Amino acid sequence: MRIVSIVGNRPQFVKAAPLSRALRTRVDEVLVHSGQHYDPELADLIFDELDIPAPDHALGVGPGSPLAQLAVMCERLEPLLVAEAPDMVLVYGDTTTTLAGALAAAKLDIPLGHVEAGLRSFDRSMPEEQNRVVTDHLSALLLCPTDTAVANLAREGLTRGVHQVGDVMLDASRMFAPVAGARPGPAALGLDPGGYLLVTIHRAAATDTPEALRAMVDVLTAIEEPAVFPVHPRTRHKLEAGGLWDEVAAHPTLRLSPPVGYLDFTALLIGARAVVTDSGGVQKEAYFQGVPCVTLRDGTEWVETVEGGFNTLTGMDPGRVRAALADLSMPAERPPYYGDGRAAERIAEAVVAHGA
Ligand code: UDP
Repeated sequence: MRIVSIVGNRPQFVKAAPLSRALRTRVDEVLVHSGQHYDPELADLIFDELDIPAPDHALGVGPGSPLAQLAVMCERLEPLLVAEAPDMVLVYGDTTTTLAGALAAAKLDIPLGHVEAGLRSFDRSMPEEQNRVVTDHLSALLLCPTDTAVANLAREGLTRGVHQVGDVMLDASRMFAPVAGARPGPAALGLDPGGYLLVTIHRAAATDTPEALRAMVDVLTAIEEPAVFPVHPRTRHKLEAGGLWDEVAAHPTLRLSPPVGYLDFTALLIGARAVVTDSGGVQKEAYFQGVPCVTLRDGTEWVETVEGGFNTLTGMDPGRVRAALADLSMPAERPPYYGDGRAAERIAEAVVAHGA
C-alpha cells in the first residue's frame, strides 16, 4: 500500500515524527513537504532533531497569502499525485497545506485521511477552522484525537470512517521528552526551574491588525516575571512592521529569541512555571508535562484542558492574563484525554485496514 503524507509547517513535522515511523513498518510512505514553513528554525531544525525522513518531494511554495499558497500547492500537487498514484493521501491538522492536500486528493478521487480530525473552535473566522471543516468533510478516514472531536463530527453528520485514536502529539512528547529533559533548558539561560514563564504567540488573530498587535504588546509588557519568548518569524515581522518590536524587546523581564528546536522548547516547557500561548499544540504539550497553561484566546479546540482546570482562557487581555498567572492552581491528577501515546500505531493500523 502506498501513502502520500503531506506536511508543511512546524506542528505537522512534530506529528509526522511518530507517525512516519509507525506507517513505514506497514506501508510505503511518500513524504511531501509543501514549503509553507521554510525558515530553518521552523523546518530543517525540527526534521533533523526528530529524525524525520527527508521529504521525497518539496513543493517549494514559499511566501504568499494563504489563498495564493493554496493555489500554488494545488497546482503542484496534481501532477505529483497523479504520478505517485497513492492508495491514500494523509493530511495533518488545519493549515493551508492540509486544505491543499485535501482538495487535491478529493479532485483526483484519491481517498483522504485526516490526522487530527474533528477539532472545532466554532469560530469560522479562523483560517484553521475553515481548513478543518472542509478537510473533514472530504475525508474517508477521520482520525480523531479526542472524544470531543468524535462528538463534533457526529454533530455534522460525520460518523463513517471515524476513529478515536488518541493524539500523535502525545506520542511525540513521550518519544522525545527523555532526550529533551536531559538538555540544559532553563539552566542554559540562567533561569531557575519553576521560576519563569514560556511564551509563544503566532496566530493571525494576534498579529494581523494594528489593534491586535497593540493588544499583544500590552499583554507582553504586563508580564512582570522572567519570561522566555521564542518569537515566531511572522510575529517578529508584524511587530517590526508595526513599529512595536523595540517596545517588546526593551521590556525588562522578557527574553526574546528566534524559535528554538522542539527539544529545547520541550526542555523550556518542562521547567516553566506556566506557559502563556495562543498555540494549539503548546496548550496540549503543557498538559502532557503538567505545566499550567494560560491561553491568549477566547476559545480553544482543546476544551478538555479548560474544563479540567489545567488551562485558562484569557483572550489577549493584560488584566485577565495577570489574574490567571496569580492563580495557577490545578488538579494533581491528569485524566488521559489524549490517549496513551500509541496514536501513531492506531493510525497506521486504521490506514492499512481502510486500504484492505
Ligand atoms: N515549538 C518549537 N519551538 C518553538 C515553539 C514551538 O519546536 O520555539 C513546537 C511546539 O513544541 C509544538 C509546535 O511547535 O510541538 C507547535 O507549533 P505552533 O505553535 O507553531 O502551531 P499550532 O500548534 O498552534 O498549530
